[in-house]
Amino acid sequence: MESQVKQDIRALSLEELISFFESIGEKVFRAKQVYNWLWKNNVFSFSKMTNISKTTRVILEKKFIINNILIDLQQKSKDGTIKNSVKLHDGLLVESVLIPTKKRITACISSQVGCSLDCSFCATSLLKRMRNLNPDEIYDQVVAIDKQSMLYHKRSLTNIVFMGMGEPLMNYKNVLLAIKKITEPESLGMSPRRITLSTSGIPKMIKKLADDKVKFGLAISLHSARQSIREQIMPFTKNFPLDDLMDSLLYWYKKVNKSVTFEYIIWKGINDQNEDIVSLINFCKKIPSKVNLIQYNSIGNSKFIQASKSKINEYKNALEKANITVTIRHSRGQDIEAACGQLANKINEFSRAQ
Ligand code: SAH
Repeated sequence: MESQVKQDIRALSLEELISFFESIGEKVFRAKQVYNWLWKNNVFSFSKMTNISKTTRVILEKKFIINNILIDLQQKSKDGTIKNSVKLHDGLLVESVLIPTKKRITACISSQVGCSLDCSFCATSLLKRMRNLNPDEIYDQVVAIDKQSMLYHKRSLTNIVFMGMGEPLMNYKNVLLAIKKITEPESLGMSPRRITLSTSGIPKMIKKLADDKVKFGLAISLHSARQSIREQIMPFTKNFPLDDLMDSLLYWYKKVNKSVTFEYIIWKGINDQNEDIVSLINFCKKIPSKVNLIQYNSIGNSKFIQASKSKINEYKNALEKANITVTIRHSRGQDIEAACGQLANKINEFSRAQ
């Protein structure tokens, strides 16, 4: 008897779709047409694929479904930031954010439902990892934000950052497949140079990125260049010491010739001592890099209090004196809890309600 479970057609690569078309005696270019409907025109119903014969459409209907995401809730901040609560085909929720500035429109997107890591300052870590996102679920967040960008800002999305929920390197295969779709001319055709993957730093996977010769940027959530401190705030790093992280970053630099960005939050009494600054400078000097000092968004854990402005400036000046490029990233969308590390609140309520 024929299996009743339909496969998600958007989980197939173009090559796999072509093989399927060949297996039913259809021409290769028909597979390409269907692929275009799915990925270029974002059509989510076989009946709308008007250049495909009725007979083929019936075969496709029988064998496949077309999964797509739904924007469940859209919240707009007074600074123009839009936070989307995204419902997946199985009812789970993730969040993705549109961040407008004068020069750029950036999409901050999620790679997992929840997160497998345990950074104690991040709201997403309060949710355990429920599952990885599929490539199309990652891609669809970008398409949805691109549409919002056109609608509200009359221009296309310019940049993508994997700084939403989840650890992208723990969902390596799907994240890379999604980026392939985002960048290939048959779909969105965005330049990989406009994409940044942010990771807590998993050395083995950073080396894999280098071996795969990726063309997008890499940002590391460092937050401390002292192993003992880093372990306290990001306990999983006990298994991924800073020496191994640096080793993988040097490997990355050697293979792809791209500098890295270190993301760093300064907290009162945690990493605001002179020793912390010196360790950061020494760490940065080992590799072409820049530092992004991030504003801390409170998640209601009183242990973490953002350092004072003067302390942040002290850090900035010390880094600059050591010839290290440093920027200060101000938070956006705080009034709707769309800022980094805050992307879990509604979802938390949702899972509590289950
Ligand atoms: N897991 C990945 C991507 C998600 S976090 C990573 O760790 O990089 C994206 C960025 O937000 C990281 O730099 C992270 O350190 C930062 N972040 C997490 N919680 C935060 C908070 N409460 N305030 C400000 N930034 C936060």
